[in-house]
Amino acid sequence: MSAPAPVARRPRIVAGNWKMHRTSPEGAALARELASLNAADPASATAPVVVLCPAAPVLESVSRALAGSGMALGAQNLHSEPQGAFTGEVAGAMLRAVGCTWVIVGHSERRHGMGETDAQVAAKLRAAQRDGLTPIVCVGETLAEREKGETEAVLVRQVTVAYHGLAMAAARATAIAYEPVWAIGTGKVATPEQARDAHKVVRVTLDRVLGAGAGQATAILYGGSVNAGNAASLFAEADVDGALVGGASLEAASFWKIVSAASAAG
Ligand code: PEP
Repeated sequence: MSAPAPVARRPRIVAGNWKMHRTSPEGAALARELASLNAADPASATAPVVVLCPAAPVLESVSRALAGSGMALGAQNLHSEPQGAFTGEVAGAMLRAVGCTWVIVGHSERRHGMGETDAQVAAKLRAAQRDGLTPIVCVGETLAEREKGETEAVLVRQVTVAYHGLAMAAARATAIAYEPVWAIGTGKVATPEQARDAHKVVRVTLDRVLGAGAGQATAILYGGSVNAGNAASLFAEADVDGALVGGASLEAASFWKIVSAASAAG
């Protein structure tokens, strides 16, 4: 009997969330540095998808700096409506027009700092897809929730509200970032076991909400104090498909070490 065909690995993705750092010229310079590091790397079948997510006014200069590099541009947020009287907001079509193909949705700094609700995150996920953007949907528990033993319940709720009613194909065309809030910007990274357990909860929930196979088909990134020193041990977990990186994405050398760790993980 012949051996079963190997199952293709989910895509690895390493995304840099620059948050409210880097002006337009600074962002272009950082993107150019990353593009040269990318060009200097030998082509590899295991190279991850690399996505840079600068602040909205910096998108255009980074878009120009990334042209032809193979790296992708992402935004940090979008409004769920396609256009209208929403002062200070940015629509998906505007992000597409400037070269974005990805967008972060439901980052904890928006959920907890700006009161974004699960329902708004669900609407933004759908808006991103309507406007031709791949959403990276962020989920994760606070420290208080973890200490009360609520991690699983929080993840189940956030994933269920975001994905309920989505077609399987649409769900597969998203990525999820498990970002424990207590690990973001704190230097306290989750252990590989904590990341593995949380990613399993997310996969099982996707199966329950969308049907069998959804969990295995969806790329799940870990985010929260990922750096050059800890990335390899996280990527060694079969359920960790990449990383959403904040602080360590602001310097080309540190970010590229994380990208290289993802390549090396195969
Ligand atoms: C983030 O902004 O999503 C993040 C994970 O930040 P940091 O890597 O700095 O913890």
